[in-house]
Amino acid sequence: MTELRQLAESVHAQFSDHLDVDVDEIEERLETLVSEYKVPPEEARRSLVNNYLSETEMDREQLSDGTTDLTPLSEIDTDEEWIDVQAKVLELWEPRNDAISQVGLLGDESGRIKFVSFTTSDLPLLEEDTVYQLSNVVTDEYDGRFSVKLNRTTSIQQLDTDIEVGDDTTEIKGALVDIQRGSGLIKRCPQEDCTRVLQNGRCSEHGEVEGEFDLRIKGVLDDGSTVQELVFDREATEELTDITLDRAKEMAMDALDTSVVTDEMKAATLGQYYRVRGPMLGRYLLVNEFERLGSVDTNEALTKVRSI
Ligand SMILES: [Zn+2]
Repeated sequence: MTELRQLAESVHAQFSDHLDVDVDEIEERLETLVSEYKVPPEEARRSLVNNYLSETEMDREQLSDGTTDLTPLSEIDTDEEWIDVQAKVLELWEPRNDAISQVGLLGDESGRIKFVSFTTSDLPLLEEDTVYQLSNVVTDEYDGRFSVKLNRTTSIQQLDTDIEVGDDTTEIKGALVDIQRGSGLIKRCPQEDCTRVLQNGRCSEHGEVEGEFDLRIKGVLDDGSTVQELVFDREATEELTDITLDRAKEMAMDALDTSVVTDEMKAATLGQYYRVRGPMLGRYLLVNEFERLGSVDTNEALTKVRSI
């Protein structure tokens, strides 16, 4: 799409509720100003907006900024939804194949999301550290993770503004109602970049390996109306349960069984109320900060247990 076409669409969006004029006509008027009167495009847009304002006797405040239906990135939770977003390009990554022209990370006040642009869509390239309004992008879900895809119909408008990008931290509170399988003292594959949890000494990728001990808890927090799955990493698990990795190894060796560790962790945490904070990864909230709010009876007794 040409720059004038994009400007025309943005003007059209601003006046579409108040003025019976189509995008082609706006583009034509912009074209005249730019090519015949040598007005810079942005100047032409401003002048046209002023024209339409007086024509419609509208106040500037009544103008739609054309961005009324923006979807915050953190609220993207549906597959194949057509949306508009306003976001900053945080990172550009190396595309893995020729079908992809750009891949990277977008951010807005609410959070971050991956974006992909395809070669066949023939879109202008986005630049890092630049804010854009991206209209008509489509959401995509893979393995619980969301992304947005730019496509042939996407309009890209560079904005002269900055965005303070949020860290998409989620905070919830509720009772820990379950600790799932694969929690407690676990062994991970030692291969570089693998870290898969071993099942009976085997990595699903690398076969039988000498695993490395680690601690984690996969838990379920119930806030009274919904449940949320949580993951506590080693550090958070140690704080939550008061059982260190070394202590867990001793316990398991004494009992010749790792389930004693999980049992003790369950005894210490199930039925307790917590406030937890952390980023969402797929369906899990990765806990990097929590507070114990007490047991069912002593819910009011706020005890600051851990914060980073
Ligand atoms: Zn592995």
